[in-house]
Amino acid sequence: MTPEQQAQIDAQRAETHQTRRATAPGMEAHLYTAYPVLDHGFVRVIDYMGDDAAICQAARVSYGRGTKAVSNDEGLIRYLMRHWHSTPFEMCEIKLHVKLPVFVARQWIRHRTANVNEYSARYSILDREFYIPAPEDLAAQSVVNNQGRGEALSGDEAQRVLDWLRDDSDRAYDHYEAMISQDGQQGLARELARMNLPANIYTQWYWKVDLHNLFHFLRLRADAHAQMEIRVYAKKLCEIVKDWVPAAYGAFEDYRLGGATLSARGVDCVRRMAAGEEVTQETSGMSKGEWREFMGVVG
Ligand SMILES: Cc1cc2nc3c(=O)[nH]c(=O)nc-3n(C[C@H](O)[C@H](O)[C@H](O)COP(=O)(O)OP(=O)(O)OC[C@H]3O[C@@H](n4cnc5c(N)ncnc54)[C@H](O)[C@@H]3O)c2cc1C
Repeated sequence: MTPEQQAQIDAQRAETHQTRRATAPGMEAHLYTAYPVLDHGFVRVIDYMGDDAAICQAARVSYGRGTKAVSNDEGLIRYLMRHWHSTPFEMCEIKLHVKLPVFVARQWIRHRTANVNEYSARYSILDREFYIPAPEDLAAQSVVNNQGRGEALSGDEAQRVLDWLRDDSDRAYDHYEAMISQDGQQGLARELARMNLPANIYTQWYWKVDLHNLFHFLRLRADAHAQMEIRVYAKKLCEIVKDWVPAAYGAFEDYRLGGATLSARGVDCVRRMAAGEEVTQETSGMSKGEWREFMGVVG
């Protein structure tokens, strides 16, 4: 964040407007603030619509605010979440400004139910900003999960990898700058010169999504199976959403983040276990992998 960019954010935060619309005090406190993520990234809320009451209002198709006692509203929200009655959650929206490495953006963009506008590297010159992992995050390939990482690299290897990451990024950016330069040459078009930049360079976008689809994103990306570099963004968003719609987030945390889905076989096993039967993988009807995951839930 340059001092000029920070000054623009501060100026926007200093302004307030009167409105008839419902506002969420927890979210008002976050509005426009850029929260750092990774070494050069951030998330900040640009705008939002709705609050917990708006979810109840939509569920009841009310003429007014549609809220009842807080406990009543919370009960309704939990009921909606529990029964996958998702459309009332779509009545809330959030618009974010996110700065993230390109390889994280590739995972993020797979969530198609959002509206996106990305910084144009055809039009603008990209900054010399590359994601370089902290030493403790520089981990070896996992030996138990092909799609994951294990212990942190150590010693000479860790240093060598860090040096290569820094040197390669710098060299690629030096060539990028040299190619687009119009100093004594025509200068290659920015839309072409960017192709030699590595996937750890930062990009930025505005990302707008409704609460239902945001919860879907958070369930997948705040999960331990998600890559750490996208998970840290999802975790920061969880904190923001918790302050925005506390009742909805509480229900989401309970039923989705902390909850588990069981197959019909799984339910049958739980019932047999509760009746005192010693169920094993062999008598469960499940594969070894499925049994391991099942025991991770009930064991
Ligand atoms: C841990 C992890 C590992 C992954 N690994 C890989 C990988 O190796 N390779 C890979 O390619 N992807 C991978 N993905 C991406 C994953 O397959 C999904 O593309 C991504 O999580 C977005 O999910 P989504 O499609 O449900 O979300 P969204 O695009 O936001 O869609 C939300 C829901 O809307 C519906 N929907 C949206 N668009 C359509 C459509 N066109 N047709 C039908 N229904 C639609 C679906 O019900 C969908 O679940 C991985 C994701 C995770 C979390």
